[in-house]
Amino acid sequence: MRLVFLGPPGVGKGTQAQRLVEQYSIRKMSTGDILRESVARQTPLGLQAKSFMDGGRLVPDQVVIGLVHEWLKGLARTQGYVLDGFPRTLVQAQALTRILDELKTPLHRVISFEVPETELIRRLTGRRSCPKCQWVYHLEFNPPRRPSRCDACGGALVQRDDDQEETVRKRLKVYQEETVPLLTYYDELKLLSRINGQGTIEEVSERLMEILKPFMGRR
Ligand code: AMP
Repeated sequence: MRLVFLGPPGVGKGTQAQRLVEQYSIRKMSTGDILRESVARQTPLGLQAKSFMDGGRLVPDQVVIGLVHEWLKGLARTQGYVLDGFPRTLVQAQALTRILDELKTPLHRVISFEVPETELIRRLTGRRSCPKCQWVYHLEFNPPRRPSRCDACGGALVQRDDDQEETVRKRLKVYQEETVPLLTYYDELKLLSRINGQGTIEEVSERLMEILKPFMGRR
C-alpha cells in the first residue's frame, strides 16, 4: 500500500500513520520529523530549514522534494509506505507524481483528514512529543502515564516551538493557501478519500481502515 496522508497540522495524521506502521509492515516518512531531527543535530539541512519552521512557513520545495526522492529511491519496490506531511504544495505533488512514474510505483490512495479549525488549535497547543523517539502525546486527549515523560523511552517531553498559538495560526493559514489545492489535484486523479478526523484515535482509525480495506496487501 502506497499512501499519502494530507491534512492541516494537528489533524492527527501523524498519529494514524504511527498506528499503521505498528500494525502492518509498512514504513512512514514524515518530512516534519526528518527536518526537526536535522535542526536538533544542526546539520546543513537543519540550519537551512530552521528559520522557515520556527516561523510556521514551508521549507523550500526543492529541499523537501530532494529528501523524499532519496528516501523513495532507497525503498524496495514492494515496500508499502505512508507519506505524512508531504506533499504540501502543488509543485511537491507534481514532483511526487513524476518520481513515482519513474519508479513505476503509483500511489494507491491519498487520505485527507478533516477537522474544524477551533478544534485544531486546541489539539496543537496541548501537544507534547518525545524528541528521542518522536512519540506524540496530548496533555488532554492522550496523556503520558508519568507527567512530562515518554511512556516508550522515559525521555523528557517537549512542546514544539511551532505549536505555540501564534505559529499554529500561521501554519493553518499556510495549509489553506498552499496545501488545500492538492485536494482538487488528487480528486481529479481519482485518488482522494476524505475522512472525518474528529473523535477518538480509535474511531478515526476505524474509519481509516474502512477506506484502506480494499487496498490492503497491494504491491
Ligand atoms: P509537520 O510536523 O509536518 O507539521 O512539519 C513541521 C514543519 O516542517 C512545517 O511547518 C514546515 O516548516 C516544515 N515541513 C514539513 N514538511 C514539509 C513539506 N512537505 N514542505 C515544506 N515544509 C515542510
